[in-house]
Amino acid sequence: MADQRPLILVTNDDGILSPGLRVLAEAARQLGEALVVAPDREMSAVSHAITLHRPIRILETTEGHALTGTPVDCAYMGIHHIAPRRPDLVVSGVNLGPNLGSDVLYSGTVAAAREGTIQGLPSIAFSLASRDREPLAKLAPALATLMRAVLTNGLPPGITLNVNFPRVTADPPEFRATRLGRRAYSAEVVRRLDPRGQEYLWIGGGMPELEDTPETDTAAIRSGAVSVTPIPLFAVRDEDLRHLAAWSLFGPNGN
Ligand code: MN
Repeated sequence: MADQRPLILVTNDDGILSPGLRVLAEAARQLGEALVVAPDREMSAVSHAITLHRPIRILETTEGHALTGTPVDCAYMGIHHIAPRRPDLVVSGVNLGPNLGSDVLYSGTVAAAREGTIQGLPSIAFSLASRDREPLAKLAPALATLMRAVLTNGLPPGITLNVNFPRVTADPPEFRATRLGRRAYSAEVVRRLDPRGQEYLWIGGGMPELEDTPETDTAAIRSGAVSVTPIPLFAVRDEDLRHLAAWSLFGPNGN
């Protein structure tokens, strides 16, 4: 209803106790009513996992509703079960660490926002390209600006906004509309022994290199701008369908 303040569903993948969640909820409260529904523990890099084969429980905490589930469970339950009315906006984060380029495929932060998009709601994922928590304290104005912009302008159907903040966000912030860039991961697998002498493996090593192609999210972060990327849910391109059409597999009239 037009006379109601916007209802903003706030979730994340770092868990209900994350300082990034608290900052985002506080920024949301500047614009409307914040409904916090987040995993009861760290759930980073679970991508778009949804819980279908075990029970989900809700714990009421001072931070909000804590679910024994994934970030996507939180968005889904928040929208369809916990919210007193249909939310006006879904926001996820602020993740402690970047979600740039192919990170968005692994990210629980981005997946929770994408679930909002699937459910037909404008949705934004927020990440801080720093492991340092200190910059979080200064993000509230920029978070509110971006949420207000989406509430005012809406988003095209099927588009999730993926926002990354640099380590230092200028005042006023420089917002840059970007494409997904590439991050060059080391392809490293670390092999170690646990205290009982059993081998274990750990994926990944150091921080990945950022691609510097203009217009990319990675380049924006490198130059200290706030990266704002409109990510489509599905992107099947005409040129790829034409490529498949040429395969004998599909026959002379195949498409
Ligand atoms: Mn995370």
